[in-house]
Amino acid sequence: MSELGFKDLGLSEEILESIEKLGYKRPSEVQKKVIPLILKNKDIITKAQTGSGKTAAFAIPICEKIELEEKLPQVLVLAPTRELAYQIEEDFSYIGKFKRLRCISIFGKEPISGQIRELKQRVHIVVGTPGRVLDHLERGTLNTEKIKYLVIDEADEMLNMGFIEQVESIFSKLPENKNTFLFSATLPEEIIKLSKKYMKDI
Ligand code: AMP
Repeated sequence: MSELGFKDLGLSEEILESIEKLGYKRPSEVQKKVIPLILKNKDIITKAQTGSGKTAAFAIPICEKIELEEKLPQVLVLAPTRELAYQIEEDFSYIGKFKRLRCISIFGKEPISGQIRELKQRVHIVVGTPGRVLDHLERGTLNTEKIKYLVIDEADEMLNMGFIEQVESIFSKLPENKNTFLFSATLPEEIIKLSKKYMKDI
């Protein structure tokens, strides 16, 4: 039997074109597992290391599901560091390129005014560090009304860096009717507890 390819996952031409341009030949293990679940709107917790292809594992199906015409953000991705947030933004931008999706990243130690300006335009995906995301939520400059997907990347790093309370506060400010996808290299008790509190069928 031939190995499973991206074409077998039910993705659209625009997304397959981006994947081809990126040079990805076959889905990685985490992608094979996660892409079908996200496409079916299941909340997930996945143990995944950096280098496993975890970013594309959530970015590919999320780009597939986004509604291009919607003006308010539909996806919020939380990452523990600016570097990771920027990397995720880049991956989303490449994968969503032919669908013409717009992704921005918002993190601390950068002027907030430019971010506020960007958030006023049509943007489909917002990637940010917890502190700056919370800041925008409290100022009312990040509209979460249409958020349908929340990704928490490197959740154990968030915990190690003392961001878990901020993550919890963000959870409580988002619409209940959304899917949450949590990725972590390890799954400590605090992460399990948080997911049981805020995620569906976990
Ligand atoms: P990540 O685990 O998300 O940090 O990804 C690690 C690296 O693998 C990144 O440089 C990706 O561009 C690359 N990558 C992701 N998925 C695939 C794939 N299916 N085939 C080849 N490279 C990939």
